[in-house]
Amino acid sequence: MIGTSYLVDLNPSQRRAVGHGVAATGANVAGPLLVVAGAGSGKTNTLAHRVAHLLLHGADPGRILLLTFSRRAAAEMELRAERIVAATRGQVSIPGRSPISWSGTFHAVGARLLRSYAKSIGLDPGFTVHDREDSADLINLVRHELGLSEKEKRFPLKGTCLGIYSRAVNAAEPLEAVLRKQYPWCAEWENDLRELFDAYVDAKQKQHVLDYDDLLLYWGELMQVPELAGEIGALFDHVLVDEYQDTNALQASILRGLKPDGAGLTVVGDDAQAIYGFRAASVRNILDFPNQFRPPATIVTLEQNYRSTEPILAASNAVIGLARERFTKDLFSDRTSSEKPALVTVPDDLGQVNYIVTTILENREAGMPLKQQAVLFRTASHSAMLEIELTRRNIPFVKFGGLKFIEAAHVKDLLAVLRWAENPSDRVTGFRVIQLLEGVGPGTAAKVLDSMAGRSPTDALALFRPPAKAIDPWRELVALMQGLIDHAASWPAGFDLARQWYQPHLEQNYPDAVVRVGDLDQLQRIAAGYPTRARFLTDLTLDPPSATSDESGVPSRDEDYLILSTIHSAKGQEWKSVFVLNVVDGCIPSDLGTGSSEDIEEERRLLYVAMTRAKDHLSLIVPHRFYATQQAKSGDKHLYAMRSRFIPPSITQHFEQQTWPRTVRAAHTGVTSSGVTVDLGARMRGRWRQTGS
Ligand code: ATP
Ligand code: MG
Repeated sequence: MIGTSYLVDLNPSQRRAVGHGVAATGANVAGPLLVVAGAGSGKTNTLAHRVAHLLLHGADPGRILLLTFSRRAAAEMELRAERIVAATRGQVSIPGRSPISWSGTFHAVGARLLRSYAKSIGLDPGFTVHDREDSADLINLVRHELGLSEKEKRFPLKGTCLGIYSRAVNAAEPLEAVLRKQYPWCAEWENDLRELFDAYVDAKQKQHVLDYDDLLLYWGELMQVPELAGEIGALFDHVLVDEYQDTNALQASILRGLKPDGAGLTVVGDDAQAIYGFRAASVRNILDFPNQFRPPATIVTLEQNYRSTEPILAASNAVIGLARERFTKDLFSDRTSSEKPALVTVPDDLGQVNYIVTTILENREAGMPLKQQAVLFRTASHSAMLEIELTRRNIPFVKFGGLKFIEAAHVKDLLAVLRWAENPSDRVTGFRVIQLLEGVGPGTAAKVLDSMAGRSPTDALALFRPPAKAIDPWRELVALMQGLIDHAASWPAGFDLARQWYQPHLEQNYPDAVVRVGDLDQLQRIAAGYPTRARFLTDLTLDPPSATSDESGVPSRDEDYLILSTIHSAKGQEWKSVFVLNVVDGCIPSDLGTGSSEDIEEERRLLYVAMTRAKDHLSLIVPHRFYATQQAKSGDKHLYAMRSRFIPPSITQHFEQQTWPRTVRAAHTGVTSSGVTVDLGARMRGRWRQTGS
């Protein structure tokens, strides 16, 4: 008999979801299940308990598929489930030793499946994955080849082209419709864009390269082949998906392909938190889930929010209550508190930064570690001034959702070497590597790549006659590639080879090479944790560790540090104290998002997501003026700002309105002070020492 003490902490609805379809005998044939409920109602917690419950009832951990929003979220879920299992069995859980072998994002799992099935679907199993920047570079190459960049009028930039392509393939919408709705200023280029995208698709196939979108598209196509779909579906007894509101129609069809009758399928989500419309995710997905199946999925709703105090929840509910449409119900909280969320008006960016730093330090003084506090913002660049101030004052922080560690040029260089060895037909990557050599420019690089077509890559490289200046470096590059490709250096030994080769190029190309070496050390540590080069490269491209996240080693887990995060990257998380920056029109809603009313609604949900991350304290900060980094034409400037339209006067009673710096009215004199405090006693002591000794 298995103990089920872990169920005691759950409420009856959560328990129902955890136990859905699990027979005491261990036969786990459950019909599809949807858990739909608001923020902080324990959806993720319920999912973790369900995984544990399944494992304790005999489910095979190798046959569970866990799909989450990030690798970090997957790892946390595994850890939670593992702890419950270990505690129930009276064992000690060993972190990082999860028996669940299939978990991660849709993209990462897709990449893994495609690699295993590559041979059956005409893919090269050595395919590499391009990140957005590489994809844009490849589009650019193709655009040049087609002569589109020399048009008289300005053709859309590479990033825009990629955006249009991505939208069309993800939403499965005709190009014409995408242009009309989302990119009207590009509509005149429809024919050229079609030609460009045809050529882009060809180039990717020739070069054995998949971009982010391809991972889902190919996986989706794979699931259309009945025999293969059956085979893949049979790999898993249980498929569990968190944050289902941010999946799109393609992801829904993949799940249907895996489990046509929904058996063993569990999805959880909250339509009020759908924030990925720009990736063609659709709220409809979650709402339509139950009726895709016959019989339809069981629906469990949850009512209680366990995360936030009652006043924080009331304010969040008020914000989302103004949404045009919404399906999940308001939650209740029994965590009473007399502290309403603060709506803090500050004069400008500097005031905002001062307010945050002061409050954070006060909180820490009062016993709240920095790790329990988070500053959230709409766009990664909004935290720039705060980062400077935190650095100046030696307050450690970790930022999520900003420039990623692997986007740094030197890290990209080293990864490019490994990726090129993995897939020598990848031209964008080859271009980057070849041009690291002194005296070799784009013209030579193109010739090298052309000479490799249809031949053994290392033979072609060895036969190539480089410019006189580059003869020695060329020989070294050839030797490296022979080591990596022909002698298939083992892993992570291959990493060491590449790193040794790269060191002189690092020193030559970057004046601050000494600083950059630290990043390469981190990369080396990460590489050592992977079984193969292919897994390392794919995972890093799909879900890169952030610049200073704990995964990359600095600061260490034991140290205390403040969390800085974009709202998008804060999904699913919670902190005792949360600060939201720039709660003004133009930031939330962002200027980018003020196009259609759908976009506005998505921005409202973003604010709701931000607010519902807070457990005990929440401050929304409203600067009167903020500093906007504009497009090159108008330069940077200060703009006067209005409080976000999502907090109209009709709901301000849910907030405690404050201004900063605090103005303190002295009781009798009527004199106001600026809030500056000085310790006159200390001054007097100092004076005394000077004069009295
Ligand atoms: P989000 O929508 O933000 O992803 P969620 O619905 O996934 O939130 P969780 O993160 O699972 O919510 O849980 C929120 C908090 O509530 C966590 O701290 C969790 O431990 C706690 N919690 C969940 N269920 C219970 C319960 N039955 N009793 C006490 N605490 C609970
Ligand atoms: Mg969650």
